[in-house]
Amino acid sequence: MNNVLAADIGGTNLRLAIIDPQGHILDESRMQAELSLHSAESHIQAEAHIITTLSDGIAAFLAQSSYSANSIGMGFPGFFHGETGVLAASPNLPLLHNFPLAELLSNSIEKPVAVQNDALCAAIGEHRFGAGKGQSSLLHITLGTGVGGGLILNHKPYGGEHGMAMEFGHLCVEQSIQNNNGRLCGCGNHDCLETYASASAVVQRYAEKTGKASNARDIFQLACDGDAIATSILTDAGDYLGKAIAESIKLMDISTVTISGGLSGAWPIIHPSLMETLDANLIPPLKGKVHVLRSTLADNAGLLGAAAIASNS
Ligand code: ADP
Ligand code: MG
Ligand code: ZN
Repeated sequence: MNNVLAADIGGTNLRLAIIDPQGHILDESRMQAELSLHSAESHIQAEAHIITTLSDGIAAFLAQSSYSANSIGMGFPGFFHGETGVLAASPNLPLLHNFPLAELLSNSIEKPVAVQNDALCAAIGEHRFGAGKGQSSLLHITLGTGVGGGLILNHKPYGGEHGMAMEFGHLCVEQSIQNNNGRLCGCGNHDCLETYASASAVVQRYAEKTGKASNARDIFQLACDGDAIATSILTDAGDYLGKAIAESIKLMDISTVTISGGLSGAWPIIHPSLMETLDANLIPPLKGKVHVLRSTLADNAGLLGAAAIASNS
């Protein structure tokens, strides 16, 4: 068993790490990277931009690291066809369809590359190394720039028939379907969970209510210092998460839910309101039986899951 290179591609950060077979991070780097080329006029330009950005970042990281890695695993925000590494589509990169991301990256870096949905990678990481270890099934939720979901069912990752299972952030949590005056989501619908419980939603709602620009981390700090508006926005995020988890549990009857991602740093405020709404909405025999745990992997669930999907030979 060898060390692998793991990559976690987010809406905000690109993180790279060398990880050993036991899940220890030996070396890591974090950089800002804009994968969506807003000036791209064609899918060919957009595709070339992604491959160049990712392979340059990986080559630079490997060149400065004292560790080496023979294969690469990557979590990427998008929908993938099974385990082929072919990107069916990505909400953030609308020009891309059926794009063979793993194959092209592998040709460019000259190492085997496996790619999977970022939230599914986080679920795999949490299940193998973190708060979901030992559970046969696990619902994992990522609270980052957006809201993602990943499902482990009977010890196996479940991606769905089109790689689009567990689009947890796009569960509709309010009833504005008929009048369409709710919060507009990037997916085109209104009042998706992501429009309340993502870091970007928290920032946007705070700006709407106060006229002030801030970031989610500072809004959490304001709430800790007693700011009523910051507190109510984070409490709302918890409430809507609780509601969405309750609806999911009605379908899946899973007793362990884990949560990772930057906004899970606001756990002391989000978790109590989440649990209250969850228990209020569960069907009675399950009340009190669903455990919602904060990731024990700091913000490394996605990286560790990416390491787990890299071919290891
Ligand atoms: P992505 O994977 O989409 O790049 P991350 O999971 O890295 O996103 O989360 C980044 C976001 O988390 C940022 O918006 C940041 O402000 C927010 N964040 C980080 N720490 C905290 C915290 N303690 N409380 C609330 N938000 C936080
Ligand atoms: Mg992420
Ligand atoms: Zn949506």
